[in-house]
Amino acid sequence: MPFRRILIVLATAIIAAAACSTSPTGRSQLAFMSEKDMQQMGEQTFSQIKAQTPLSRDAQSIQVILCVAEAITSRLPADQRGAGWEVLIFDDNAVNAFALPGNKIGVYEGIFRAARNQDQLAAVIGHEVAHVIAHHANERVSTTTATQMGVNVAQAAAGGTGTYGGQVAGLLGAGAAVGVILPFNRKQESEADVVGLDLMARAGFNPSQAIPLWENMSRIGKEKPPEFLSTHPSDEARLKGLKKALPEAEKLYAQAQDKGFQPTCGF
Ligand SMILES: [Zn+2]
Repeated sequence: MPFRRILIVLATAIIAAAACSTSPTGRSQLAFMSEKDMQQMGEQTFSQIKAQTPLSRDAQSIQVILCVAEAITSRLPADQRGAGWEVLIFDDNAVNAFALPGNKIGVYEGIFRAARNQDQLAAVIGHEVAHVIAHHANERVSTTTATQMGVNVAQAAAGGTGTYGGQVAGLLGAGAAVGVILPFNRKQESEADVVGLDLMARAGFNPSQAIPLWENMSRIGKEKPPEFLSTHPSDEARLKGLKKALPEAEKLYAQAQDKGFQPTCGF
């Protein structure tokens, strides 16, 4: 396994739980991995999680989560629907969910400790799907790899060689490794909140329910920080961002209702 590939696989393992070019909100992104490579990494990571975590046997939880996920992914623009989404529900009490390149979604049964109705569950799944369609994993791997390879890439760029050397050198010039990576992730999280709000609204879920969902998350997070919350923005920043984006999402929600998108997932 070449050294660079090892770094990439490691980086993917780190992003497994979170689980952009130009992002859906118009932000410029460092993303030099191919879509095919990203899909492959997503599939590998998904397989690893499947091997480590038992699947749920709770028929009602499974039905509700599949129903909400189907309602959201079936309303994505055609070019983002891919060849279908694979959704798995895990028998684990963690308040956690993730989505991976290659259109994979994982939800832990513990999510019901925070999501109290189908709209709140849709806020979680919308957020995770938003990470995938915004190519956040590619951005994260690219940024992490660029930072870890820093010296070599910067040298290559100085010598005028390498295809992405210029981009990477520009990034390194912007700040130290940690400074580059951490704020980037918070931007991605805020972006996933806003894009996720639109996705749930287009599917006919009430976007205002994202507010109590994240309040529940925050309360649970204070007991014991779940993995899902660990890299997320501060509660205040998150709620502020959601409230700002809510009026636009409310319009999409009203349009979806008019068109007859009114999911009933029995929860
Ligand atoms: Zn997230």
